[in-house]
Amino acid sequence: MTIKEEIAKITAELPKGVRLIAVSKFHPADAVMEAYEAGQRLFGENKVQEMVAKQEVLPKDIEWHFIGHLQTNKVKYIAPFVAMIHSIDSLHLLTEVNRQAEKVGRVINVLLQIHIAHEETKFGMTFDECRALLNEGTWKQLNHVRICGLMGMATFTDNMEQVDGEFAGLQAFFEELKGNWFADDTAFKELSMGMTDDYPIAIRHGSTFVRIGTLIFGERNYNK
Ligand SMILES: *Cc1c(COP(=O)(O)O)cnc(C)c1O
Repeated sequence: MTIKEEIAKITAELPKGVRLIAVSKFHPADAVMEAYEAGQRLFGENKVQEMVAKQEVLPKDIEWHFIGHLQTNKVKYIAPFVAMIHSIDSLHLLTEVNRQAEKVGRVINVLLQIHIAHEETKFGMTFDECRALLNEGTWKQLNHVRICGLMGMATFTDNMEQVDGEFAGLQAFFEELKGNWFADDTAFKELSMGMTDDYPIAIRHGSTFVRIGTLIFGERNYNK
């Protein structure tokens, strides 16, 4: 199937309330443009430089979602335009996003990234680290960031029961936060989980953003 056909098919099948982020990392601006012409407006990138380069040449009504590990010294490059940062994993990073957002007169939407996979290599806070960040309280004074929910990545495995358990865990944690720190906060409503191999499972557990790359754009070539 072409990029356009994949976008049309996935979009048609998504339940109401679930939005598609087309993950275009490692794919050229041409490929993004093809998806754009199919009506796609939300795109995900995991490298600052690549996102900035694409943002400069592509239509301005694209919503750019940053989904990769973010270094504090690079926040300033994406602060002027990024629609949402999915990968906040410390108060330090949240504070820097707030600082850069203030400089450009914006309020930036963010998600707290939670480590749910049984793998060392994935980023994110544990449930306890996240609770500690929220209890510490500084985040409430950061007026240039808006915490909109949580992001997580399941373990890369064929064991779909394990993936199911990890998404269920993140969903339960999301409900815990909504019932406590975010009880009066209507902005806290997004759950970013699900990729090419596991997004139907994520949707069953309340995902509101699925981040899909390979299924739309094909395999990534990491060696270019
Ligand atoms: C690359 C990436 C995706 C997309 O993965 P696919 O398996 O290609 O759909 C989703 N989320 C994050 C955080 C990624 O880095």
